[in-house]
Amino acid sequence: MSNLPGSRHSVPKNAKCDIHADRNAVANIQGETDSFGAEYILMCQECYDEYKQESRKPDISDCNWCEAKQIAVKPRRDYEEGMSGPVYYVCQSCIDRDNARIAEELNDRDSYHGDGNWH
Ligand SMILES: [Zn+2]
Ligand SMILES: [Zn+2]
Repeated sequence: MSNLPGSRHSVPKNAKCDIHADRNAVANIQGETDSFGAEYILMCQECYDEYKQESRKPDISDCNWCEAKQIAVKPRRDYEEGMSGPVYYVCQSCIDRDNARIAEELNDRDSYHGDGNWH
């Protein structure tokens, strides 16, 4: 269960598409998250298919963590700051480096049962 932007949540019963009020929603996608909480977007199959097409294109931006400019970035939270921390947009090499660091830290923690977010 991830609560990063772009993650999919369960659709409330009888929910309709945000764009097409006469269609049943099949997906509930988390949008940008700010200090007031997350924004959820309800989508019918057509809107969801379109969204998936869109999201396949990487976001191009400056990496928030390193000096990389105009690079493909993904939303990411700092492991240290936890799930309530801010969302950063970081490049793949920062993600790889962060994953390696987390894997190392979790190595000795036998009691840790990951929820999939950090793999
Ligand atoms: Zn729709
Ligand atoms: Zn980076």
